[in-house]
Amino acid sequence: MYKQSATNLLELPEADVKKWLNSFDSILTDCDGVVWLFNNPIEGAVDTINKFKEINKKVFFCTNNSTKTRPELLEKAIRLGFKMNKDEIISTAHAAAAYLKNRNFNKKVYVIGSEGITKELDAFGIEHCGVGPDPISSSLNQFVAEDLKLETGIGAVIVGFDEHISFPKLTKAASYLDDPECIFLATNTDERFPMPNYVIPGTGSIVRAVETCAERDSILIGKPNPNICESLIRDGIIVPERTLMIGDRCNTDILLGTNCGFQTLLVGSGIHQLHHVKAWMDDGSEESKKLIPDVFLPKLGDLLKFM
Ligand SMILES: [Mg+2]
Repeated sequence: MYKQSATNLLELPEADVKKWLNSFDSILTDCDGVVWLFNNPIEGAVDTINKFKEINKKVFFCTNNSTKTRPELLEKAIRLGFKMNKDEIISTAHAAAAYLKNRNFNKKVYVIGSEGITKELDAFGIEHCGVGPDPISSSLNQFVAEDLKLETGIGAVIVGFDEHISFPKLTKAASYLDDPECIFLATNTDERFPMPNYVIPGTGSIVRAVETCAERDSILIGKPNPNICESLIRDGIIVPERTLMIGDRCNTDILLGTNCGFQTLLVGSGIHQLHHVKAWMDDGSEESKKLIPDVFLPKLGDLLKFM
C-alpha cells in the first residue's frame, strides 16, 4: 500500500491507517533512531512494539550496530522494556561470524571493531586477534621500522565500529588485505550516529578508510544487503509482501526493505526526514527512487493511538 509515496500516516483518515496496519504480519525494525537513542527508549516506542506483539505480529530488531552481541542487544531491549526474545534479534556482528562459519572458515580473523564481534566469533569457535586500543607509540618511522608486526594465518578482516581506530590498525588491515584470498567483511556502512549537536562518525567512515588503503571493496553484511535477513525469508518465517520494514535511515533501512520487497515506514526520530525524501523524489533517478519509503511518521509511538 502507498508504494514509495512517503505518505504521512497522520494525514490519513483513521480507518485508512487501521487498514494499513492490517496489511502486514511481520515487522523488521531498526533500533538506533527508531526504538531507542543510545540508552533511552524513544517516546512511545516500547508500548508500540509490545502492542504489535500483543496483536500477534512478528517483530524482529534488525540492527547494523556491531558493538553488541545478540545476547547483549537482547539484554538492552529487555532492560528498556521491550518484550523481545533471543531469536527476534538480528545483528551484523552475529551475521558476519555466521558468514565465515557457513564457508567453513578455519583461519584467523583480524578485527577492527569491538567485543561485539569477537564474542560472536568466539561463539562459533573462530580464532581472532582481539580488539582494543592499538595506538602509534611515537613516529611513523619507528612504527614501521620496529613496532609493526603482522600475525600469520590471517584469512579474514572484519571491520565494524571501533572507537580505537588508529593508524596501526589501518596499516595492519590493509596489509592483510593485500592478500587477495583474505576475506574482507564490513558489518555496515552507516556514515554517522543519530545524535543532536555532534557528528559521531559511524562504521561507514572506518570501512571507507580501510577500503581506500586496501584498494579493495568490502563485502557488506548489514543493511541494505538482503544477506542480513535472507534466512528469515528462505525459511518462510516472514513473507516479504506481508512484512513491514521500519527505519530512520533510507540508504540502509528503507533500501533493505525495497531490496527485499517489504513494505516500508520511515520514522522522523533519527537520521532522515521528509525533506530528504522530497529531494530524492524531485531527483527522480532509479537509485533515488529506491530510498523513498511507502509511508512516514514523525515517530513510531504515533501509531499507538490507532491500535
Ligand atoms: Mg537507525
